[in-house]
Amino acid sequence: MRVVLLGPPGSGKGTQGEMIEKRFHFPRISTGDILREAVKQGTPLGEAAKAEMSAGHLVKDEIVASLVAERINQADCEQGYVLDGFPRTVNQVKLLEKMDNCQEEIVFEIYVPEEIIIERLTNRRLCSSCGAVYNIITSPPRRADICDLCGGYLIQRDDDRPEVIRERLKVYEAEIKEIVDYYQQKGVLYRVDGRGSVEEVFERIESLLVSELKKKVKPTRE
Ligand code: AMP
Repeated sequence: MRVVLLGPPGSGKGTQGEMIEKRFHFPRISTGDILREAVKQGTPLGEAAKAEMSAGHLVKDEIVASLVAERINQADCEQGYVLDGFPRTVNQVKLLEKMDNCQEEIVFEIYVPEEIIIERLTNRRLCSSCGAVYNIITSPPRRADICDLCGGYLIQRDDDRPEVIRERLKVYEAEIKEIVDYYQQKGVLYRVDGRGSVEEVFERIESLLVSELKKKVKPTRE
């Protein structure tokens, strides 16, 4: 089963992806996380991606697609995987189908009004050590600027600055319609309201995913 999470930055794809991973044991693959780690480590991939990322632009399709191809070929993805932040262009949709012509697929488009997105992104903080995500208003750490889980320092993502947020939303809007139309025609798309608590949003996703998985279970013979 391939689960694809679509949605603008700040729609909660990362959090929901983690919850799907926990509940269904499908590894979450976040191209943003892989790229951020590469930038942090200063690898050639990180060097190639750095400038685009801090401007809020997309990294080249071929680069991201090869990261995904490498990851989904690992044994833990055999039963399924969750894609968070990929595909982001129509070309990436095509590249994805080429690398894994998966028969079982479900795509969630998480929608959230723009004012909520901006508020979420400007209040988002990330642990510089373990990557845990906080919101300084709705889910603050116990001690200001310190991660509850590992004691690391919390930082703001380089691309969570207002001018870059606007650019990222523009980039998202430019590509998403065609991607959504494609998945809708394929009959695998569900729109999910991304407002409310993390748990409320997850309940919406979970019930759709459970009923989709039930359909896939072949009846056993008497
Ligand atoms: P995210 O964490 O998903 O918001 O991604 C952060 C940044 O990484 C994006 O703004 C892009 O610069 C880059 N990125 C992540 N995923 C992709 C992708 N599928 N295609 C191109 N660039 C990506």
